[in-house]
Amino acid sequence: MFETDASRKTLFAEVLLPVPVPRLFTYRVPYNLNDHVRVGQRVIVQFGDRKIVTGLIFNITEDVPKDFEAKSILELLDEFPSVNELQLKLFQWMADYYLCTLGEVMNAALPAGLKLSSESMVQIHPAFSLEESTLNFSEKEVMLLKRLEQGTMTYTEIAKFLGVKFIFSILKSLSGKEAIILFEEVKEKFKPKTEKRIRLNPDFNDAKALEDVFENIASKPKQEAILLKYLQEVPVLQSPAANKTGMSRKDLLNGDVSGSSLATLMRSGVLEEFETVVPRFGFAETTEAPPILLSEEQERTQYEIIKSFEHHAATLLHGVTGSGKTEIYINLIRKALESQTQVLYMLPEIALTTQIVQRLKKIFGTSMGVYHSRFSDNERVEVWNGILSGKFKFVIGVRSSIFLPFDNLGLIIVDEEHDASYKQQEPAPRYNARDVGMILAQLHHAKVLLGSATPSVETYFHAKQNKYGLVKLEKRFGEANLPEIVLANMGQERKMKTIKGEFSRLLLLRIEETLARKEQVIIFQNRRGYSPMMSCEDCGWVPKCVNCAVSLTYHQYRHVLVCHYCGYKETVPQQCPACTSTRIKTVGYGTEKLEEELNVFFPEAKIQRMDLDTTRSKTGYESILAQFENGETDILVGTQMVTKGLDFDKVSLVGVFNADRMMHFPDFRSYERAYQLITQVSGRAGRRARQGQVVIQTSNPEHPILNYILNHDFESFYQREISDRQQHDYPPFTRLIEIVTRHTDKKVCREASQKLAGMLRHHLPAVRIMGPGEPMIAKIRNQYLMSILLKMVRGKSDLPSIKLHIQNSINTLSAEKAFRNVRFIVDVDPV
Ligand code: ADP
Ligand code: ZN
Ligand code: ZN
Repeated sequence: MFETDASRKTLFAEVLLPVPVPRLFTYRVPYNLNDHVRVGQRVIVQFGDRKIVTGLIFNITEDVPKDFEAKSILELLDEFPSVNELQLKLFQWMADYYLCTLGEVMNAALPAGLKLSSESMVQIHPAFSLEESTLNFSEKEVMLLKRLEQGTMTYTEIAKFLGVKFIFSILKSLSGKEAIILFEEVKEKFKPKTEKRIRLNPDFNDAKALEDVFENIASKPKQEAILLKYLQEVPVLQSPAANKTGMSRKDLLNGDVSGSSLATLMRSGVLEEFETVVPRFGFAETTEAPPILLSEEQERTQYEIIKSFEHHAATLLHGVTGSGKTEIYINLIRKALESQTQVLYMLPEIALTTQIVQRLKKIFGTSMGVYHSRFSDNERVEVWNGILSGKFKFVIGVRSSIFLPFDNLGLIIVDEEHDASYKQQEPAPRYNARDVGMILAQLHHAKVLLGSATPSVETYFHAKQNKYGLVKLEKRFGEANLPEIVLANMGQERKMKTIKGEFSRLLLLRIEETLARKEQVIIFQNRRGYSPMMSCEDCGWVPKCVNCAVSLTYHQYRHVLVCHYCGYKETVPQQCPACTSTRIKTVGYGTEKLEEELNVFFPEAKIQRMDLDTTRSKTGYESILAQFENGETDILVGTQMVTKGLDFDKVSLVGVFNADRMMHFPDFRSYERAYQLITQVSGRAGRRARQGQVVIQTSNPEHPILNYILNHDFESFYQREISDRQQHDYPPFTRLIEIVTRHTDKKVCREASQKLAGMLRHHLPAVRIMGPGEPMIAKIRNQYLMSILLKMVRGKSDLPSIKLHIQNSINTLSAEKAFRNVRFIVDVDPV
């Protein structure tokens, strides 16, 4: 053969591996795969001595690696790429921007079902029997087969069992002889859900043939009943297509028809059984939903958004709560789908409820995929593959849905764009899905619609600067008005002694009135547990976590003290370990205590609590909401879970606790957070005809932020906030990078952080470097923390070179023996 023969070219694949090493790895492409390899396919390769891992082909080249001999790719897992080139570009951007490795991005992006590792399984081929086989096997092969007959083994276990380092050739030989399924467990790790269905044998699908059948079984009433039932459910004569999908065996047998008669009908060939893959999201029939009639306001808003897309890649829809942003989204999604592009609609974690999913399912049917972190890995793989196959053109999902294999996005909607849960805190990549969404849109030449009633200061700033388009919707839909917000002056009520428990007289009165009208109440308190702290009345001693620098939260229903950072638990002490006093009291209050007090004040009312403690199960959250929706619950007490996206008819009162603590939290975003949280939870009230009411309990009734909230005056709030940010060099005027060092030894942690700050100051004189300092919680899970904050003037800093310096400095320090075990956590654009 000649060198010109394409199949004899020696190709190399640069493979992305899920390991925290900041580079690609080169593998040789076996000749027989030359015509099959493509960028974005998954491959199995050997990494290190005996590990095998799934990688992604990032690049294919003919350049021969210079200083080492490349190992071969062991196997190609995909016929078609699982990951497209736009995704690979996005991965690269994320690794560069968020200072992490491509492997870390890949790990976050791919559902586990798409990844194979040394833990993957090898099993005996179901059709194989060693005794009956006429093939020749080596001694080792026989040994392995006998062992495999007792059960599946992982790759690693096999290597150990055979006592050899490299087992791929044995496995390959055995799979060639169809004795084992090699990696099949992995390829099939994703198990589609199947269902047994019954249909009429098409040969009998005409009136005459059916008549004959009925004649034949005239004396067999049970068989007759089954066939009749089938024909009633499936209009076979009108629609041969309907017969093709038949009906489920379960449904057919449901009732008084007999299984053995069904078997007889199948044996005689009248009915046949087949298996089909069922989507995990149910067979939502694509009902023609009635077209939404937008109000005049909404119509104008939609027109403005479309106009704005002509000039801006991103547009902010600033629409008050209950203005019908969702209806506008639905219309825009329809239009984007009609023009044959894909759509991604992102929502914060807890705002993605059944309520919204069902509403959209009715409209978009089975072309809509749902990507939720509460879903199992199988379900995620199903969405991933559904996009690849073209089944899902539209996905509604949480932040990780930016990783899905879209190849033709036309529109990305980021609803509640201000929400902090778009930011991934741990592990790397510490990305903000809203910001990544912008880059994703750029790659696809798609449009981005950011929606919020309380936009983030950063986003609003960009909109004002005309970097984004800005469209406003200032009226609620229909008859509804914005709620009336009043303050309960706690200082004054304390003086007048009108406070009962934690409740002001004003709030109690309003609750009473609301319950009397048979309407519902939401109580918002952003702390779970009974009380955030206990303390000795005599000496002031406070029980603290043994692993973290925080006080323990008291949970009454289990009568324990719990650390909310590490889960550590302790029984409540009978006496103070410092002074032996027995007077230990609770300080402050959480949702549990409010629930208890409400039960005392309103014994007739049905009260439910929604927080992390009551929603741990997959369905806990949904069932609490369902009960609230159908009116079984009168009062819902909850943490910020109750603030987001809920749309209930009969909520007319919202009570807000602890507004003061939200505002005085030591963070430059605390006013913004308070404004957003209080406005959002207030927005749950009075979403229909009835005027909603909100009571905010506060000891600072004069606080300007509260006044902006009372007056629904976002503009003034923003003006005040933005001038504050400018004055103190905070975003959007600067960009921030936080570097946290972590170590079990406080001194080592401190030294590493100080050294790093010194190096950075030396290399980056133009960057303002603050710290190191102790973060608010200076120890978590027995690890001490120190933090450095870098401030870079926006538009005037060379970010890539700054990031390079950060990376280099960390690499240098990590190489020092003393700092070998120090973790350096870089967080770009921390929130
Ligand atoms: P937002 O997301 O802006 O808070 P929603 O989209 O949830 O508001 O709308 C608030 C309520 O008003 C919803 O129950 C919605 O069904 C209803 N609504 C909004 N616009 C329309 C419309 N054009 N026709 C019928 N109902 C509407
Ligand atoms: Zn004491
Ligand atoms: Zn702890």
